[in-house]
Amino acid sequence: MQQKYKLTPDQARRFKELRKMSPDAYEKICKGCGLCCLCKTGCDGFTLYTRLCCNYLDINTKRCKIYNSRLKDRANQCAKVTPELALAGDLVPRTCGYVEYIFGPAKEPINLDWSSVVHCGNMDVGDTFTALGYAILDSINWKQR
Ligand code: SF4
Ligand code: SF4
Repeated sequence: MQQKYKLTPDQARRFKELRKMSPDAYEKICKGCGLCCLCKTGCDGFTLYTRLCCNYLDINTKRCKIYNSRLKDRANQCAKVTPELALAGDLVPRTCGYVEYIFGPAKEPINLDWSSVVHCGNMDVGDTFTALGYAILDSINWKQR
């Protein structure tokens, strides 16, 4: 996995802290924003977030309906947000609690209108054209990526 960010010594220390945390402490850092459960598409080195989300996400609570078994379902392409994945920068936004733990608070908050988010099935976007359409709509909102 390619690392998107370069680390200062202080950031490298916090990254190591994350890696050594107990599972309970690690879970508490997640802000429960649900943004990692949005479908994304890649374009010319950028990650574009769409208004499509994983079918297992409760759009109202932003909670996963199958959290404890989410990684066991092979048909579902859910990935655990590890410290390494947070550094890769493709699957979680800069506002993710794990990214902020390493780099400090994001400069720009993300204000997504969740009433416009719809389910797409799972993280493997089946309808490419629909996904791209949503991605284009959102590309301005997500330009901080
Ligand atoms: S299965 Fe994974 S991607 Fe889908 S809602 Fe749950 S945590 Fe999010
Ligand atoms: S983007 Fe980060 S903080 Fe938000 S739900 Fe996903 S793991 Fe948690």
